[in-house]
Amino acid sequence: MIIGVPREIKRDEYRVAMLPVGVEELTAAGHQVLIEAGAGLGSGLADHEYLEAGAKLVASADEIFAAADLIVKVKEPLAEEWPKIRPGQIVFTYFHFAASRPLTEAMLASGSICLAYETLRDAQNRLPLLTPMSEVAGRMSIQEGAKYLERPQMGRGILLAGVPGVAPAHVTVLGGGIVGANAARIAAGFQADVTILDVNMDRLRYLDDVMPPNVNVLFSDRHTIRSELKLADLVIGAVLIPGARAPRLVARKDLRFMKPGSVLIDVAIDQGGCFETSRPTTHSDPVYLEEDVLHYCVTNMPGAVGRTSTFALCNVTLPWVAMVAASGIEKALAKSPPLVTALNICEGRVTNQAVAETFGFAY
Ligand code: NAD
Repeated sequence: MIIGVPREIKRDEYRVAMLPVGVEELTAAGHQVLIEAGAGLGSGLADHEYLEAGAKLVASADEIFAAADLIVKVKEPLAEEWPKIRPGQIVFTYFHFAASRPLTEAMLASGSICLAYETLRDAQNRLPLLTPMSEVAGRMSIQEGAKYLERPQMGRGILLAGVPGVAPAHVTVLGGGIVGANAARIAAGFQADVTILDVNMDRLRYLDDVMPPNVNVLFSDRHTIRSELKLADLVIGAVLIPGARAPRLVARKDLRFMKPGSVLIDVAIDQGGCFETSRPTTHSDPVYLEEDVLHYCVTNMPGAVGRTSTFALCNVTLPWVAMVAASGIEKALAKSPPLVTALNICEGRVTNQAVAETFGFAY
């Protein structure tokens, strides 16, 4: 099979969909891999590394889309890429179709076969191609929170760890899933005083078992959230109700309980955000003040640490790319139930129930 990897063209996106090791593995299996020149630069991967691994470097995205049977990407195709996608071509990437009717209609019209990273479910009902990005965002949320708590960044002027004789910062994590657990562990490593709130008692019991002693776990309800807001220097929003908009756990009026210059990092902003005052921001303009509380609501946090995120993503996508390339799409779908869950659009038909229901398409 001919596998094509175009350069990502979305703003602030530094990831690439394949590592040189992936090229080596796929070419060793008899496939041809086309990489657009410069595709890896944002992640610190030079063209010669791909060449040495056996890739064919191609000057333009046009050539990749024209020749490849399987396109492997990171972000959803942008409008300028839509006309390049051909009938029967397989496109494997993050699509987030439910967020965009124009993208959905364009892919339906293209006649392509769209496999979405974000809906691929494994036998344990997990989302293994989303998990690494939640791990990155969770860990990064504390790094960003620590930075914005500094006075020159408009924060309260608080050191997460404190020092002997001065209390550490209090960090509240709303939601103890992948993002929340990763945030809590990093905050705990900074010696902050950490509380995780969740509504899932099994998850709270698990976190109570595995977290270090400076992490407490509490059941999430209105009163607990309010008392945490009074204590917190840094709040991480990390809740998720699968398939739904994030619940609004903190209203504008609740911000009056918070100390001026405290920081909210709304990681759940890609699902609408869990603070009433959240609105999407970008890496070039990440923060704003509301009610004297600093808000950070970047929707693609992993993009800023492109190299780490590229490795984390490619580690988990390569086996699926290799499977599709080895068997062809029909056989791969027949033998792999998880791959079927990734299939969102197939040659002009919506094949994912949630996407069909969102836009009223036949399913
Ligand atoms: P997850 O499913 O692993 O965890 C979500 C947790 O929220 C669960 O444990 C759930 O019980 C808990 N929860 C639900 N309702 C709650 C409530 N009312 N109070 C407290 N906890 C509640 O999800 P995740 O992988 O950790 O992702 C969390 C969010 O982060 C998602 O919206 C995801 O899309 C987003 N995310 C954003 C970025 C970014 O760049 N901004 C990157 C990765 C993930």
